[in-house]
Amino acid sequence: MKILAGVYEQVVKRNPGEPEFHQAVKEVLESLEPVAEKHPEYVKAGIFDRIVEPERQIIFRVPWVDDNGVVRVNRGFRVQFNSAIGPYKGGIRFHPSVNLGIIKFLGFEQIFKNSLTTLPMGGAKGGSDFDPKGKSDMEIMRFCQSFMLELYRHIGPDTDVPAGDIGVGAREIGYMYGMYKKIRNEFTGVLTGKGIEYGGSLTRPEATGYGLLYFMDEALKAKGKSFEGKTVVISGSGNVAIYATEKAHQLGAKVVALSDSNGYIYDKDGINLDTVKLIKLVQRGRISEYVKYHPTAVYKEGCRGIWTIPCDIALPCATQNELDGNDAATLVKNGCFAVGEGANMPSTPEAIEIFLNNKVIFGPAKAANAGGVATSGLEMTQNSMRLSWTFEEVDSRLKSIMQSIYANVSSAAAEYGAPDNLVMGANIAGFKKVAAAMYAQGIAY
Ligand code: NDP
Repeated sequence: MKILAGVYEQVVKRNPGEPEFHQAVKEVLESLEPVAEKHPEYVKAGIFDRIVEPERQIIFRVPWVDDNGVVRVNRGFRVQFNSAIGPYKGGIRFHPSVNLGIIKFLGFEQIFKNSLTTLPMGGAKGGSDFDPKGKSDMEIMRFCQSFMLELYRHIGPDTDVPAGDIGVGAREIGYMYGMYKKIRNEFTGVLTGKGIEYGGSLTRPEATGYGLLYFMDEALKAKGKSFEGKTVVISGSGNVAIYATEKAHQLGAKVVALSDSNGYIYDKDGINLDTVKLIKLVQRGRISEYVKYHPTAVYKEGCRGIWTIPCDIALPCATQNELDGNDAATLVKNGCFAVGEGANMPSTPEAIEIFLNNKVIFGPAKAANAGGVATSGLEMTQNSMRLSWTFEEVDSRLKSIMQSIYANVSSAAAEYGAPDNLVMGANIAGFKKVAAAMYAQGIAY
């Protein structure tokens, strides 16, 4: 970094103790250096200095009462990062690891991802350090209601439209939506990921996983390859991992491994997705239980070991920094030729460098996993129009959005002299639209 080094230094100084946020900003600014050279007017207008500073950061207390009558207190966050191209949009994460830095990294990434979808959505993210694991339905409900009792004043269908993320699925969205509606006395599309009965979109649960496969399919096709007959390893066993597995199977690949934060399963015959759905979606159990149903499969403690399983294609779909330089080197050594990021920032900078240096086809998160938010955008459209599209209609729009994202990202990479570097292509393509909008709207913005 030359022109933008000062911007990065300022971010580190102004946001101490937020390594994930620094990491996300550094990667983007490194890619944008040639854009800064080509557009001195953006440097002069402070676009780079402004885009790394959230427009608004909200931190709030979330008190709730557990089943034993004990008062618990968690911390809630909403970071409204950038509204240059549309209302703020981004998920809510409930996980004990959540802090301001994590939410800022996710909100920052969301700006570029949302821009890539071609839909009019700004970037935001929210969440809480609440741990939904082991909580009863009533505890989850009381927590979600308390969370919304503060969040409602900051969101709205034309202001900020949250969605799900880790730990927030249809159940949590339902509880939050119910509370929002009660407070506001309005039935609007203020959250996405809603149930079908009250304004949700068909294909939203599948969208991130399916979209990942559509994106990677394009990237593989560009190199004369496909998913047909390939062995795939997918980390995680939540929303993204489950539907990535489903689409991989539909495209003729064999997914042999899945994980959770405790360990991973390996089924050489191919993962039986019905069993995984039963364990994870119905019983809300652990992935280790899979081997009870399929005794020829094996379960190993420790989630990281999953990257030692030989595969053609790896799809990290669990969480940030879950795949480091050692894991990347092992994957490459074992013949893995493509990696698609379903999770947000799952690969460390060292891992990405190894993939790019070894000509691995690498689909970066902000492009490859944009299918979820794109379909959330389609849910907003359906809500505004007061109608609902069929599964096939939403799925075909999702597929064509992912194809255009791939086309835009690869052409931006080629335009800036790095045709196979989709990381650079995604950062540049996502940035250009937001930068042009910020420039047009003046400096007060
Ligand atoms: P879920 O909560 O549904 O699932 C997360 C899964 O990852 C769980 O199986 C969880 O296991 C596992 N996991 C968490 N930490 C680790 C770890 N360190 N190692 C291995 N597995 C782990 O979340 P989603 O599937 O919705 O989200 C997964 C990722 O995808 C996140 O990075 C999210 O930001 C990203 N994403 C999600 C979108 C969506 O539409 N849902 C959209 C775009 C991105 P455990 O049960 O043990 O915690």
